[in-house]
Amino acid sequence: MENKTTGNTRLELIRGDIAHQPDTDAVVNAANAQLRTGGGVAGAIHRAAGPGLEKECRPLAPIKPGQAVITGAHKLPNKHVIHCLGPVYGRDKPEDQLLADCYRNAIRLADKHGLQSIAFPAISTGIFGFPIKEAAGIAIETIMNTIPELKNVRLIRLVLFAEKDLEIFREAQERFSKPDTP
Ligand code: ADP
Repeated sequence: MENKTTGNTRLELIRGDIAHQPDTDAVVNAANAQLRTGGGVAGAIHRAAGPGLEKECRPLAPIKPGQAVITGAHKLPNKHVIHCLGPVYGRDKPEDQLLADCYRNAIRLADKHGLQSIAFPAISTGIFGFPIKEAAGIAIETIMNTIPELKNVRLIRLVLFAEKDLEIFREAQERFSKPDTP
């Protein structure tokens, strides 16, 4: 586990399942535009939350790439689910900015709702095809740059499904904290 503290907010990287993060106030769903269940993260979250989540999502859909919306967590052990639509790599442009928007908008939404902790999956790196190394750099940089404005959120956790993905995110964190000097 890797921790980094900036101000009063900690960024934590772990290997795990986004649908099993009982100690964070919110979990982020790598959603589709219609906020329906699906494969990957959306499937795991909707399965664990039960059909009430899709019902609550219906009037909030469709959402646009980069956008984040908040719902209850239903049968999940968290207080809320924050649904983000990541960019489809090669289709929704500019991909890097839209991916950064997802992280920033989700964190701001959590903070606005007075939440203290939020767990993210690696948005867009599955079915949406975003190269994981590039996505990791954007995720880490956006999170670290958003931390100074936060009033409530004290823990941001990135939950990586595979050990190799965790390694890639750790390397991105290293690169961010020790950028090459010109
Ligand atoms: P997207 O459609 O945004 O690409 P996916 O759900 O297909 O979202 O995948 C996003 C990332 O989440 C991928 O790296 C995938 O391996 C990972 N992933 C899939 N299921 C889970 C899970 N239950 N918990 C955490 N990460 C997951």
